[in-house]
Amino acid sequence: MKKILILTEVEFPSNFPRQVEHYLNDLVQVEMKRTDFEGLKSQFRDVRRGQVRADALLDYLEPRVRGYEGFDKLVLVIDDDGYVEGFNFVFGVARIGGALALVFTKRLRGERSLYHTRILKEILHELGHSFGLDHCTDPKCVMYFSNTIEDTDKKGPEFCRRCMTRLRTLVR
Ligand SMILES: [Zn+2]
Ligand SMILES: [Zn+2]
Repeated sequence: MKKILILTEVEFPSNFPRQVEHYLNDLVQVEMKRTDFEGLKSQFRDVRRGQVRADALLDYLEPRVRGYEGFDKLVLVIDDDGYVEGFNFVFGVARIGGALALVFTKRLRGERSLYHTRILKEILHELGHSFGLDHCTDPKCVMYFSNTIEDTDKKGPEFCRRCMTRLRTLVR
């Protein structure tokens, strides 16, 4: 069973890791820890844009977190705004087959339960990439590419049948 650690600046209800496990069809085991990333955020902040350089942070951390405390994947939930070159912003980043997923929450904010659902979707989406999934053309699938917050709200936390079938083989 693959082990996932969520390090988060955002406070979630205690059943949050269980929800991540549920939507990943219990293929994984999830733990969660509260922390802050003030040091990393200031190190990777683009002062001119006021945003965190998501891809630079990912490149810096990726080789450093492989096998971190015995976890297969690490998810950082960063309460800030991130971008990659060529985009105004990103909700999250992860490499195909990578060990790390970053989720940026500033543009996901809303009423509490909506906020948590949006973050849950972005975590599942980036974990999907880290396990090897590409984007999906089904707008209801969590692997659909979110260009806007409306896209995120329209898609489910669920993986479509096709993506879940693929995920089952990839996670093994
Ligand atoms: Zn994506
Ligand atoms: Zn899909």
